[in-house]
Amino acid sequence: MLLLSIEEITKEYDGIIALDRISLKVEKGSIKGLIGPNGAGKSTLFHLISGVEKPDLGKIYFKGREITSMESHEISALGMGRTFQTLQIWGNMTVVENIMAGMNRRLKGGLFSCGLWLPWIRRSEKEALKEAKEILDSLGLLGKWESIASQLPYGKQKLLELGRALAMKPELLLLDEPASGLTLAEMRQLSEQISQIRQEGVTVFIVEHHMGMVMEIADKIAVLHHGELIAEGTPEAVRRNPQVIEAYLTRRNPN
Ligand code: ATP
Repeated sequence: MLLLSIEEITKEYDGIIALDRISLKVEKGSIKGLIGPNGAGKSTLFHLISGVEKPDLGKIYFKGREITSMESHEISALGMGRTFQTLQIWGNMTVVENIMAGMNRRLKGGLFSCGLWLPWIRRSEKEALKEAKEILDSLGLLGKWESIASQLPYGKQKLLELGRALAMKPELLLLDEPASGLTLAEMRQLSEQISQIRQEGVTVFIVEHHMGMVMEIADKIAVLHHGELIAEGTPEAVRRNPQVIEAYLTRRNPN
């Protein structure tokens, strides 16, 4: 079953064609990778899917519903979560508050009172706290639940951002370079987490520069180069594709 369908998407910025008639599909329950040299159009595609920007041409469908012109918050309410290339957490809030903030569309209100530990804390908020702690536990962050987020090491902050996206209970999770800045050990842990997230029924669409990681976890990989889709298939097929090899050999910025 298809969860996401991108049809003939084109996006131009001041004469630069960032994406040229791109069509892609993401199957429910899969992990799909999106790779390509710098400037290939990966982030642009994620911005269009998540409603941060609008395409010039083409259509995007999520769960069979057209989302091309929807705003980010509407798309996220439909069940699409996202993490960003640059870390987006609330540094001055605690770890658990960050997760609970991610849940806010499911809470009936009074979200920030959760952080104050008021005696009249609502039942729904108590449930949210329990659920937030479960998410933190699954990410190995439960021991730090009361820490101030900015005081966590960078790798743990990236995991927290992932947890915040998971708190929205997305059906599709877009991960934009989740491994950037991570150590090898953290990257391994992240790969396991992503595989686990899929086991729990979340479909994952991931942009990542660390080829080894994408090759290891993705079922299918799409490759963009200068705004064009030059290959799509299993990691093995993509690895051997001459156009992909050529694109990476001639790239301007080795990353
Ligand atoms: P990287 O791996 O370096 O993040 P990318 O594959 O994500 O690159 P994009 O950031 O999507 O590539 O950029 C694709 C092209 O579109 C590039 O030529 C870029 O300069 C251009 N571009 C992207 N966003 C804008 C913008 N807001 N205004 C002008 N040009 C843009």
